Amino acid sequence: MKTSDHLPTCSSTKTNITILIILLAVASIMPFNRVIAQNSNNFTIGTTEAKPGEKVTGSLSVEAGIDEATFIPFTIINGAKPGPTLTLVAGIHGTEYVPIITAQKLAQQINPYEISGTLLIIQIANIPSFQERAVYYNPIDRKNQNRVFPGKKDGTISERIAYTLKTEIMHKSDYYIDMHGGEVNEQIVDYVYYCANSPKPDICRKSKMLAHAIGNKYLIPDDYNAYSDSMMSEYSEVEAFRQGAAAISLEWGDRGIVKSEEVEAALQGLKNVMMSIGMLEGTPVMNDHPVYLVNEQSVESAHDGILYTFVERGQYLIQGTRIGYTTDYWGNMLEEYLAPISGVVIAVKVAPSIKQGETVFRIGEPRANADE
Ligand SMILES: [Zn+2]
Repeated sequence: MKTSDHLPTCSSTKTNITILIILLAVASIMPFNRVIAQNSNNFTIGTTEAKPGEKVTGSLSVEAGIDEATFIPFTIINGAKPGPTLTLVAGIHGTEYVPIITAQKLAQQINPYEISGTLLIIQIANIPSFQERAVYYNPIDRKNQNRVFPGKKDGTISERIAYTLKTEIMHKSDYYIDMHGGEVNEQIVDYVYYCANSPKPDICRKSKMLAHAIGNKYLIPDDYNAYSDSMMSEYSEVEAFRQGAAAISLEWGDRGIVKSEEVEAALQGLKNVMMSIGMLEGTPVMNDHPVYLVNEQSVESAHDGILYTFVERGQYLIQGTRIGYTTDYWGNMLEEYLAPISGVVIAVKVAPSIKQGETVFRIGEPRANADE
């Protein structure tokens, strides 16, 4: 009978399937054993250690000094295969939420068995500013976290956070991306600062490569020769560069708004960077035609007062265009602001609160080539 005729065949197929499943199971284990043997380096931050193939969370202590203590949360994803170390830092500023959410999601998504090398993710570098939703300045010492690098071991809390990042994180990084965005009071375009010139051409070239892999529309070349060794680096990515990492800083999102499509684009950009440095398998898509912004100019407020602005991020303005004004608290005009050059609006304050000396507006000239 057909049915019984088929029985031996079915039975032998089942046996074959069982053997196949066992073979597949063995095969799926074998590459793990093989790749674990390839990366023998444990990765340690503070007292937290990740073995090859492990994803471990931890936090760095910033001990109390002349002001209170804090901590820096992080995830180490130590790849099963050897490769470079990529460090991502979010939350240097407290209300830059797209990078903070992106960092948390990426840490959850990446499997250590998928990567070559080590991915170190700092979800929030500046916990006091995040907790207080504090714009620009740490609420404890009133300092801008991204103007105090390399920091001081015995300084105020912002300086001790910077010192901790420098001594525990930066020198262990081959690549370093400092992720910022528009704080709750500002519009800003998605741009990248990268190394365009430096006495370290090899690391500089890698910084440039990161900038073209991340996918942001606007790139701003930065001349690292301008930071002499006797100067403070001030900025996180400049300090990381000095510590030997190919470093960039970038902006994602504005006004503190978290749009899911912006987080998704940021995640794709970071995964593309991981491909470009050989950390993740796949062919990276390089942004060969970004808009370079050069000759950046900024306009500062000469007064405390109430700010009105009329322009949008990314808008092209002709030199002399009226971009806003500040009144006193009773509504009397104090000063007007005009575009100092023709160019693209990089950033503009949109909250009415403005203080003397704060930047109201930034503009840059667009170029098709960085060297024009
Ligand atoms: Zn920032």
